[in-house]
Amino acid sequence: MFDPIEKLKEYVRQASVSADPKFKDGMVGAQNFLTSLFKDLGFKVDVVPTALHPVIVARRVGNKAWPHVIIYGHYDVQPPDPLNQWNTAPFEPTIKGERIYGRGTADNKGPLLVHVTAVGQLLEKNPDVPLNITFMVEGEEEIGSKNFKSFLKANRHLLDGDFIYMSDNGILSPDQMIVTVGLRGMVALEIELTGPKSDLHSGMHGGVLMNPLQALAELCASLHTPDGRVNIPGFYKKVVEPEPWERAQLKKAGLKKADYQKFLGISKFHTPPGYNPFEAIRFLPTLEFNGFTGGYQGEGTKTVIPSKASAKITCRLVPNQTPENVRECIIKAITQRCPKGVTLKITEQHKATPYVVIPPDRSNTPKNQSPALANCFRALEKAGTEVWGKPPIYLREGGSVGLLADLKEVLGLDAVMMGLFLPEDNLHAPNESFHLGVMKKGIETSRRVLENLAKAGKA
Ligand SMILES: [Zn+2]
Repeated sequence: MFDPIEKLKEYVRQASVSADPKFKDGMVGAQNFLTSLFKDLGFKVDVVPTALHPVIVARRVGNKAWPHVIIYGHYDVQPPDPLNQWNTAPFEPTIKGERIYGRGTADNKGPLLVHVTAVGQLLEKNPDVPLNITFMVEGEEEIGSKNFKSFLKANRHLLDGDFIYMSDNGILSPDQMIVTVGLRGMVALEIELTGPKSDLHSGMHGGVLMNPLQALAELCASLHTPDGRVNIPGFYKKVVEPEPWERAQLKKAGLKKADYQKFLGISKFHTPPGYNPFEAIRFLPTLEFNGFTGGYQGEGTKTVIPSKASAKITCRLVPNQTPENVRECIIKAITQRCPKGVTLKITEQHKATPYVVIPPDRSNTPKNQSPALANCFRALEKAGTEVWGKPPIYLREGGSVGLLADLKEVLGLDAVMMGLFLPEDNLHAPNESFHLGVMKKGIETSRRVLENLAKAGKA
């Protein structure tokens, strides 16, 4: 059996940056690394091409009567820039104290190797374990998984599992396991207002026309109420209130408002009524302005009336909002409220559907929940409690991972997400690292989860 830390070093040395064609060798290196790793474990490996980076599918599928777990991961990493802020070379993994440093150690090479190691240990102990296992490792997660949905559609025959099991999500401390049970969706758009056909002298022409910047400010200011809610008819219509158990789980995490306020460096929270900040991130949708442009941005004064002004807007969505629905509400409100005298152009950008998965035996567990999915949650609860010394906490997160909704839509499968990275792991930033203690506990937990799944049999 291999040493997981040595394997992780070898894996991290493959500089698999999906965004930059310069790193082509690293991408191929990571694909080859995974191919031989899975072959050594006795898996049948397919390197399935997509329009850009292939997906590695490794299967150990013996008997239809066994449960079938699909383990998701991604082999691509973020670019290492800015290089001068790294204390060690990003693609030369280095152990310091209880951490291993390097790009991709936590996102997502370490967490994937946790599961691969667990599978290896399980098979070493019991080569005939009655469990079908498929690894599905994509190479475009860091660039939005653009080809993942079409991959899923074209390869359903390889992906006939019962549920997804994965670790591309976080925990709050090395002592507490977190299971992620939801992520917000997303709608992005840009609005552009055009007034006069060119920029104008504000002395010669000021006072006779609607300034596009003023129109933009009035329009954008109309999109929230003073108490912090989104002021768009229909925006909240489909939002499902969190169940009491969800608020109780969040409370168990012991997050402190004062710490968070200090971390943000703000003088006051601006959170809609009825929700504390930690709840608002997880249970409420938002509309945020991400950028305004228009007029003179340089030093000093320029007496200009700009011809154009624009704003970039993104919304985070929660169940059961849909990107289509929310986009329609926003476009309708903006179109109706746009001041006279300017023309409005709306450009629709990317979107993601919100995702939620409810563990078994809760007030809102779907009646038709797949028994295999329920088994996996129970296996994780048991293994997590044994290894971490207390039960996992089940939390939704504020971010968006669009591929979860794709997995649900195309394969009809839900995901059990065991968190493994910490806030201080510096994902996407210089000096990314992975906590070796968490890695060890993760391997032990995952092996027990897989053992419990095999023991439970086909649900
Ligand atoms: Zn990731």
